[in-house]
Amino acid sequence: MKKKPQRSCVSCRTVRDKSELLRVVVTPEGEVAFDPTGKLSGRGAYLCRNEACITAELKKAAKLSKGLKKPLTDEEIRELAKSLLGSIAEDK
Ligand SMILES: [Zn+2]
Repeated sequence: MKKKPQRSCVSCRTVRDKSELLRVVVTPEGEVAFDPTGKLSGRGAYLCRNEACITAELKKAAKLSKGLKKPLTDEEIRELAKSLLGSIAEDK
């Protein structure tokens, strides 16, 4: 049996299949981006596809920044929140 890659959510630490999590990535250019395909290169951090994890994590973005090894600006956080929440809204 092939084991699916698993990652833990940076907010609640729940371990899930990588494909079930949202990926946020710091590109080699140092930009923070939501990565809906999971295929962008760069250092990634993962979040559950639920509003609680996304908003909790973006509120205390320090932790996420630590996972990403790069501090986030307020504007980057706002943009990320928009993309991430937009993405889970599409699930419904
Ligand atoms: Zn979570």
